[in-house]
Amino acid sequence: MSDRTIFERIVDGEIPARVVHETETTLAFLDASPLAPGHTLVIPKEPYERLRDAPEDVAADVFAVVRELTPRIEDAVEADAVNVGINDGPEAGQEVPHLHVHIVPRFEGDGGRPIHAVAGESPDLDDDELDRIADAIGGG
Ligand code: 5GP
Repeated sequence: MSDRTIFERIVDGEIPARVVHETETTLAFLDASPLAPGHTLVIPKEPYERLRDAPEDVAADVFAVVRELTPRIEDAVEADAVNVGINDGPEAGQEVPHLHVHIVPRFEGDGGRPIHAVAGESPDLDDDELDRIADAIGGG
């Protein structure tokens, strides 16, 4: 039993995929269960589990591909817009433990929702809490 991820097996050609773009460090292919026509995944070829695990240069490569493909996908399926997102960790909905960026085309009136819909109930945070959180993130 291998603990290689399904995406490593796609990179290695063991599992077929509709590859739309490839670089030395990245691969992009159509999602097997698309949320919309053109739903594409962009991955680093190395199986970093989460965004924080990817070296800076590899993360930059992944995002450069997202930047390059987004308008091409939009044009290919005549979408009006796209959502770009990462389920970064199981609690955020990550099922495949191999970093991947979803590019999901959106169409006027498609009934979908914005990325704001992914979280639970909005918290009620006072100014002190907001200051503390900003400091903690900013390292202040
Ligand atoms: P996650 O929930 O981990 O962010 O999303 C994983 C995505 O990978 C899902 O959208 C799912 O449809 C897609 N996926 C899972 N297995 C395969 C596969 O074997 N091939 C392709 N092309 N996509 C897959």
